[in-house]
Amino acid sequence: MTLARRVDVCVVGAGPAGSVLATQLARLGRNVLLVERARFPRDRVGESLTPGVAPALRAIDASWVLDAAGAAAVRTVHRSWGASVTTRVDTRGDARVVDRALFDAALLEHARAHGVVVRQPACLLSSRSAGDGGVDLVIEHAGVQHSIHARALAFATGRSGSGARPRRLVDNGARTFALYAYWHGAVDAMPAIESVRNGWCWGVPIPERGYNALTFVDARELRLAASPEECYHEQLNHSSFKARLQAATRVSRVQVVEATPQRAAADTRTMASYPCIRVGDAALALDPLSSSGVQKAIQHAMSSAVVLHTMLESEAGAVLARRYFDEQLDRMALRHIVAVASQYAAVAADWPDAPFWTDRAGTQETQRANPVLTAAPADSLPHPDAPLRRVAGGRVEQVPCVGQEWVQLIDALLHPELDDPVAFVNGHAVAPLWSSIRDGASANDIVARWPLPQREGRDLLRWFLQRGLLQSLVPFARALPDTQRRVMA
Ligand SMILES: Cc1cc2nc3c(=O)[nH]c(=O)nc-3n(C[C@H](O)[C@H](O)[C@H](O)COP(=O)(O)OP(=O)(O)OC[C@H]3O[C@@H](n4cnc5c(N)ncnc54)[C@H](O)[C@@H]3O)c2cc1C
Repeated sequence: MTLARRVDVCVVGAGPAGSVLATQLARLGRNVLLVERARFPRDRVGESLTPGVAPALRAIDASWVLDAAGAAAVRTVHRSWGASVTTRVDTRGDARVVDRALFDAALLEHARAHGVVVRQPACLLSSRSAGDGGVDLVIEHAGVQHSIHARALAFATGRSGSGARPRRLVDNGARTFALYAYWHGAVDAMPAIESVRNGWCWGVPIPERGYNALTFVDARELRLAASPEECYHEQLNHSSFKARLQAATRVSRVQVVEATPQRAAADTRTMASYPCIRVGDAALALDPLSSSGVQKAIQHAMSSAVVLHTMLESEAGAVLARRYFDEQLDRMALRHIVAVASQYAAVAADWPDAPFWTDRAGTQETQRANPVLTAAPADSLPHPDAPLRRVAGGRVEQVPCVGQEWVQLIDALLHPELDDPVAFVNGHAVAPLWSSIRDGASANDIVARWPLPQREGRDLLRWFLQRGLLQSLVPFARALPDTQRRVMA
């Protein structure tokens, strides 16, 4: 063994979650060791980045990572989903495709540039409570074992992570596998998603690599097939990908990866004897149908850095931070299950006898958890003088909230119409605004009472109305006679 070292936090796993977590902790002044078992650059699926990735990277001064990864804007996606066939056009090009090998390597470089010490390829062999509120670790790097004392530990080991801690991810949906291969010479090689009877296909052109054509199947389907290749080609042959790839050459083998939505078992998310959390896919692995795993991993890592920073500061902070962390994960998991179930349900309605779709379409419970938005449509905002009232069920409560550096208790509005407690909208504290609304007051009265510039007040009032938190006491039709229609603008 070589000499022991002391660090504030050891992060295990240098995917997007681990690298961003380590970077953010270093920016908060923590001394961080990042341990990654693979040699980079290493391949990864998950190459389509949702529009929220670019702003998240901007927030951590890592916009350059997109250029380094050869990011290309995604302007159109062809979608054939059950009976619905559409081409989504995004003129802003906020969604991107990247080579994940380059993207992940650049994010790791970003962590290094912020002073994170990286050990790679390296492996966490053991972790044991040190008895002083920290943890003793043994890490193997370059054939040598190192003893390290950390005040906190974070697992960002992805969905297949293993090592010193037994894998404790539990399925959060039907067992699904993804099969994928890269192709050269695909015709009409635009991003495309398509449902077929036994699963779905997703294709995306990756800069410098070719067209990645993926299929998603139930575990049963893969088991029954003679080989993964057979399963893969069978699925593609039932889709328009057959024509797209007819004259193309497959330039990689067919690879199989787990794609079941999963989440960490509740007892493994945080630990009592020393601060220890799971981040990114190691905490919650989304259904790839959402295409937002990378965005979620980065955002989760950003807030988790504040969580760990708070945990290290004081015992009271640790209790609050742990509560925030657990509640946030529960909310993310529920929101995700509900969102993807509705996408599966859309196809199940067309194929009620296809188990792939009906198994994933969600239970009545998830459908109940997805309340129909009662928001006022944009064109039926009430007359500015029409009386309004608050929709029942809202209350103001102190909830843990992530700030720039700390998890703090903040007044937030909780309401059955809101998925999550809301503390701020457009930078304004919502709770006092909500509390000041008197039933029967008009839009004009409400905005006049708020200590805000009128335009910002109107925007906030519109936010309350569109979320169904306020309703008109006069039916919209009567409140908006054409002759005196004065929609708040
Ligand atoms: C088929 C499929 C398609 C997907 N498509 C998309 C998509 O289009 N868009 C999207 O945003 N997301 C997609 N995702 C999800 C996305 O890839 C993940 O959400 C994202 O990679 C999660 O990042 P992470 O850092 O949590 O984990 P990972 O990216 O998995 O990184 C984990 C890292 O930890 C390392 N590690 C593991 N164990 C150890 C250990 N014991 N010691 C040290 N290091 C370890 C690994 O080597 C790896 O580098 C897809 C997922 C699948 C399965």
